[in-house]
Amino acid sequence: MAARILVVEDNAANQQLMAYLLKAFGYTVRTAADGEEAVAAVARDAPDLILMDLHLPVMDGYQATEKIRALLQPKTIPIVAVTAFAMVGDRERILARGFDGYIPKPITPESFVHTVESYMSEPLLAGATKAAP
Ligand code: MN
Repeated sequence: MAARILVVEDNAANQQLMAYLLKAFGYTVRTAADGEEAVAAVARDAPDLILMDLHLPVMDGYQATEKIRALLQPKTIPIVAVTAFAMVGDRERILARGFDGYIPKPITPESFVHTVESYMSEPLLAGATKAAP
């Protein structure tokens, strides 16, 4: 079964673009617009992978990730930061804070889904990467 992905992003246009691309490739997508909403969504029904913006209202992506990690224990799922931070050292800092990886914004629509898939294990891949719409 294709992965269920939670997209946590407060910018509506970015959220819609990521959701659109992932759905086009066969993934089931849920969205959250702040960190608290993300934690609540995971508590209700844990997804297979989370894309997490870092700058979020109410609760930021670092704090939400910490809470989600604690909530899911001992299970772990990939949590990938999606953020505009581009300074040297940010990648290392992000990985040190419990993320599995980092996708810089603005995202590249042509390669976004493939990049997300690089964080998934084989059974979660949708239809071995269908052609883009
Ligand atoms: Mn944001």
